[in-house]
Amino acid sequence: MRAFTTAAAALVTAGALFLLPTETQAQAKKKKSDPFKNPTGYTDTPMLPDGKWRVHDIARPHPRIITPPAKPGDPPSDAIVLFDGKDLSKWVDSGKGSGQPGTAKWKVANGYFEVVPGTGDLVSKERFGDVQLHIEWSAPTEITGASQLRGNSGVIIQSRYEIQVLDSSGNVTYADGQAGSIYGQKPPLVNASRPRGEWQAYDIIFEAPRFEGEKVASPAYVTVLHNGVVLHHRHPFIGRMAHRVVGTYAPHALEEPLLLQNHGDTVRYRNIWVRRLQGYDLPEQK
Ligand code: MG
Repeated sequence: MRAFTTAAAALVTAGALFLLPTETQAQAKKKKSDPFKNPTGYTDTPMLPDGKWRVHDIARPHPRIITPPAKPGDPPSDAIVLFDGKDLSKWVDSGKGSGQPGTAKWKVANGYFEVVPGTGDLVSKERFGDVQLHIEWSAPTEITGASQLRGNSGVIIQSRYEIQVLDSSGNVTYADGQAGSIYGQKPPLVNASRPRGEWQAYDIIFEAPRFEGEKVASPAYVTVLHNGVVLHHRHPFIGRMAHRVVGTYAPHALEEPLLLQNHGDTVRYRNIWVRRLQGYDLPEQK
C-alpha cells in the first residue's frame, strides 16, 4: 500500500511538471461538451457470458430497421399480411368433410371474412414456425347456442395448437375452453372478452416446438394478449389441441400452416398479419 501511494505521488508530481493533468482535464471537458464524439462501441470491454460479444461491442450487428405501423395493431413493414380486407388469396379450404382441399370458401365482405358453416377450415398457404401473429375477430351477434356452441372458432397455430375463439361475454363454458384459453389445457389468466359483435384482437407470440426424432426437444410456447391484456406468458403447450383427452405431441416440420377453425358459427376475422421471428444478432442489411 505504502509503495503504491509513493509511486502514485511520484506520477502526480511528474504529471504536474509536464502540465499533463491540465491537458487531460481540457480533453475530458471537450469530450463532454461534444456529444457527437461519444463512442459508438468498445473493443476493450469484458466478454458477455455468451462468449460472442463484448459489453457494448462495437462489432455487434445493429438490428434491422423496420417501419412501425402508424396505428397500433396495423402491420409493420416486415409483416406478412394474410388478410388485408380484400380477398382470401393467402388461404385455402382444408377440405374438412369433403376430403378435398381447395379454394377458400368463407365469405368476404366489408373488410372482413366470415366462417361459412358446412365448408372447411381456412388454412394459410404459407407455413410458419416462430412468429408474432396479430388477428382480429368478432363473434356473431345472434345467439344460436350456449357454451361451446356460441361463437366458436379458433386460431390453430401450426394446424395443431389452438388459442380458442369463443363468445365468452356472458357465456359460461369449461374454463379451459373459453375465449383465449389454450384449448383443453389452460384457461386465460383473465377474461378480457368484449361483447359479441365487437371486434377483438389477439396478439400472439409463438415458439414452434423442436423435435429430436420422436422426442420433444423443446415444447411449443405461447404468449397471448387479448385486447391488449396478457392471457398467457410464454406458456408451454402439453401437446396439440384435443377434445376430452390430453393432447400429445407428434413430430412435425418446423414450419406448418396457420389454421382458422370452422366450428359452424359465423365468426368474423380481419386484419391478420404475421412476422417471422428470426432471433438476435442477424447480419446487418446493406
Ligand atoms: Mg374452437
